[in-house]
Amino acid sequence: MLQLAGGMSRLGTESAFEVLARANALRAQGRSIVALSIGQPDFQTPAHIVEAGMKALKDGHHGYTPANGIPEVRQAVADDLNRRHGITTVDPNNVLIVPGGKVTMYFAIMMFGEPGAEIIYPNPGFPIYESTIKFSGATPVPLPLLEENGFGFKAEDVLSRITPKTRLIIVNSPANPTGGIVEKDEIDKLVKGLEKHPNVAIMSDEIYSEMLYDGKVHTSFLKYPQIADRLIMLDGWSKTYAMTGWRMGYSVWPKSLIEHATRLCINVHSCVNASAQWAGLAALTGPKDEVAKMMVAFDERRRFTVSELNKLPGVSCITPYGAFYAFPNIKGTGFKSKALEVALLDEAGVASIAGTSFGSYGEGYLRISYANSIENIGEAIKRIGSFLEKRK
Ligand code: PLP
Repeated sequence: MLQLAGGMSRLGTESAFEVLARANALRAQGRSIVALSIGQPDFQTPAHIVEAGMKALKDGHHGYTPANGIPEVRQAVADDLNRRHGITTVDPNNVLIVPGGKVTMYFAIMMFGEPGAEIIYPNPGFPIYESTIKFSGATPVPLPLLEENGFGFKAEDVLSRITPKTRLIIVNSPANPTGGIVEKDEIDKLVKGLEKHPNVAIMSDEIYSEMLYDGKVHTSFLKYPQIADRLIMLDGWSKTYAMTGWRMGYSVWPKSLIEHATRLCINVHSCVNASAQWAGLAALTGPKDEVAKMMVAFDERRRFTVSELNKLPGVSCITPYGAFYAFPNIKGTGFKSKALEVALLDEAGVASIAGTSFGSYGEGYLRISYANSIENIGEAIKRIGSFLEKRK
């Protein structure tokens, strides 16, 4: 009998991949499935980025790169962050190029998590936070993100959960799975309150920072020099540039942690695929018109999705201001989240994700990704409507 390490039984997963596999299995049986489950843009990576990746391969960029990333790419990340957030403080020496946004969260959580430590994380939130915290042996402390707060949080919600055991706080705005955002005045208050807790690190997951609607403005934690010595800022190319499969992410680390994070890179993956890094450079420095077009499409789909969902019996959906997810309240349907996810896939041919896949506070909700065509979204919501009418 093989004896696995204890952490393996505590490691969770991301249901989106399981739902995708089930949806594909049903398609292979000839069933028509509309997938509103996976969190990735349905667009192709813009052509000039693909060209840059191919050129890098043709030009012979086939070897290892520095573990922390190609210097030109780190410089471009620093320039892009300084420009986008109206700051001058991001130094390329503190930037790490990693194979996807997930790697930053894994490194940050493993760096601080161990038995006896507590880590505060958003719930409902990206499932990998809770999974990795448990894997590390630390105690996960959920920060409830409630519908009545627009699925954002108040500074006090976070501060009141800090104990002498708290090592790390994870925040995510704009958020997966809800599309909720946190307003600047709450971030101001949180940063002020954190002055009393100098031993607590913050990981701010800002992977959806360029996906905002209705004139909302992103407030990066990078704007607060008073926490720069304990902030890990996660961002990347996956969502903004439709590059999920390239596995390109980046993070900004404090001076005291960047060496540790780089050593983790050397131990785990050596460096990120060289041609992908050159493609990432082209994304940051090249034209942005394709990104702007994608955002126009996402915005149209967002409005359509919310208005159609609100017509369904037993369903209500608040307007999300970021990312590409809606998080409808399904409590009026009489279904629990997981039961509705399963029934919709099996009986209505619609793939969605149960709110509980994002944590216990997701009960009573469903995650709908509107990264799909208006036609497909319309068809999926029509199918959900027919299913719910029949079950009334
Ligand atoms: N952070 C959040 C909140 C996400 O939703 C995702 C992906 O869905 C990631 C990070 C990971 O992104 P990547 O595909 O770059 O690893």
